[in-house]
Amino acid sequence: MSGRVLVAGAINTDLVATVDRAPEAGETITGRSFAIHSGGKGGNQAVAVARSRASAVMLGGVGRDEFGSARKSDMASDQIETSWIATIDGASSGVALITVESSGENRIAYIPGATAKVTPDHCAATVNAIQPSLILSTNELSVDCHRVLFEWARGRDVRVIFNAAPYSDDLVGLLHLIDVLIVNEGEATALQGGTADGMSPEELAAGLRSIGAIDVVITLGAGGSFALSNDESLTVPGHRVDVVDTTGAGDTFCGALAARMLEGAALPEAVRYANAAGALATTRSGAQPSIPNREEIQKLME
Ligand code: ADP
Repeated sequence: MSGRVLVAGAINTDLVATVDRAPEAGETITGRSFAIHSGGKGGNQAVAVARSRASAVMLGGVGRDEFGSARKSDMASDQIETSWIATIDGASSGVALITVESSGENRIAYIPGATAKVTPDHCAATVNAIQPSLILSTNELSVDCHRVLFEWARGRDVRVIFNAAPYSDDLVGLLHLIDVLIVNEGEATALQGGTADGMSPEELAAGLRSIGAIDVVITLGAGGSFALSNDESLTVPGHRVDVVDTTGAGDTFCGALAARMLEGAALPEAVRYANAAGALATTRSGAQPSIPNREEIQKLME
């Protein structure tokens, strides 16, 4: 294996309060339990890359606070290079305040904080210093940051894998700079103006190619995944597993796919591997604790 994957995206701390019911405006309720989890799609995907034994460098931002240092040290313990995570004065680290009711209903207040302040100049400095062999990005840094990263890659024949999540309207102009676009069915539909409801994965992927995407991978939850590359298509059925918590399955899929592509795997092979990784992530609770390593993924594939 050679080279490094640069993973660009958010590093968050999830503060999760479990309550019988969420408070109304102005009300205080006493909850049942509290937990702190490492999160952010970018951070999760970097962990997935590293656990598949590929070399990962994280690009993102944190504030000068305890959450930021804790998340950096979590990543370092997963062998992720953290020196290109910008520490941004005057911004908090990304935080999600989450209440989960006994019914399972979530309410989330998300503060991107430092993630939203990462500059295109910092992105340019990072790629120039790291010279990654592959870029994996979520849609969490700004469009200007994405443009700098993707144009740098295009000029050097470095592949870009982009997970268009969370969805935003300004993505369409970037599609032609992305080698492998990974979306779920909702994102695939939204990118096509929300008019694609009821379309098959084949039709959704063909539609994305017609608006500029190159290779397209659509994740289908328990249904597995679908890939369209040139005129070749591949359907990979979902593995039958005992599902405990699907949080982080999509991020695991993206990180695992990037790790295999760094090693030179062709898209179909990388998608099969990612599909097994995503399935395993649903068998344990939490996002980062549930991300499987390479040996576990290979075992499921056998
Ligand atoms: P997202 O959470 O981003 O919408 P998906 O739900 O499509 O992503 O899940 C990503 C991948 O994880 C799927 O393509 C599949 O490989 C795997 N996966 C998710 N849910 C299941 C499940 N219930 N059973 C088996 N595999 C699953």
